[in-house]
Amino acid sequence: MSLLVVGSVAFDAIETPFGKRDRIIGGAATYISLASSYFAKPVNLISVVGGDFPKDDIKMMQRHGVDTQGLQIKENEKSFFWSGRYHNDMNSRDTLDTQLNVLADFDPVVPASYQGCEYLMLGNLSPDVQRLVLERLQRRPKLVVMDTMNFWMQIALESLRKTISMVDVLTVNDEEARQLTGEYSLLKAARAILKMGPKYLVIKKGEHGALLFHGVEDEIFYAPALPLEEVFDPTGAGDSFAGGFIGYLASCNDASFANMRNAVIVGSALASFTVEQFGPERLIDLKRDDLAHRIKSFRKLTQFDYELSI
Ligand code: AMP
Repeated sequence: MSLLVVGSVAFDAIETPFGKRDRIIGGAATYISLASSYFAKPVNLISVVGGDFPKDDIKMMQRHGVDTQGLQIKENEKSFFWSGRYHNDMNSRDTLDTQLNVLADFDPVVPASYQGCEYLMLGNLSPDVQRLVLERLQRRPKLVVMDTMNFWMQIALESLRKTISMVDVLTVNDEEARQLTGEYSLLKAARAILKMGPKYLVIKKGEHGALLFHGVEDEIFYAPALPLEEVFDPTGAGDSFAGGFIGYLASCNDASFANMRNAVIVGSALASFTVEQFGPERLIDLKRDDLAHRIKSFRKLTQFDYELSI
């Protein structure tokens, strides 16, 4: 089933306790597209970069089945730039710099061949642009998933709430869920977010896994994160999760809550690869066998046969 991905394509500068990279490719849509490409092809991409973005990396995405007709290249401008520093626990980070550059006045164009897409991933970027893409589709997709970040809560809260009210699934991390609602309890925060419009909510908790909430039925599913020996760089874990989540749903064309539980596991498996190396490197040459093996490890980690006797 056709998948459309919107989000930032960027340069990142990252510092973790294990090292530092000054200028590597990143961006929400980069991670989402690469992660979802293991399940859904083509991945129709809408984003914008400057003339400084390496053409080889665009070709690398194309080799992964990413259709880049919707990727605008502004030759005389600079790509979006983000810089972050992780704390020792690797679960929390500080944003050191955000330079919107080409993203500041991005006017997304939906190529004719992207119309009719069934699955839409509104990855992290301005909520105005996320909404514009949804409005520029002639037919509403079967499933609209949205991810966002504290940055947009700080500078565009009203617009963000408007976009949130239009989507089916929202994915945020625990800190963002608390910031968005003012509730510390994640259960209360989830209820408050589900009242804003989405039918489903995923709260990502980094090394503590992810929670999936279904509003109407009041159902909750929890997937742990796989305990890993080495975490080099958590950047893009949330986006890889989102890419695996929607890519898997699109590949089975089943957006039921039961299948979303599987999608949460697939998303968690992809995120577990991303954190093993700096930037999106690990996502570039992933083997299907590695992925299958990791999904099996998740099953082993969470399965138990205890018979309830009460
Ligand atoms: P994650 O670690 O999954 O939250 O996502 C990290 C990616 O998000 C990085 O590669 C950044 O380039 C990108 N990013 C950071 N801030 C923003 C922002 N305000 N808007 C869009 N993308 C962003």
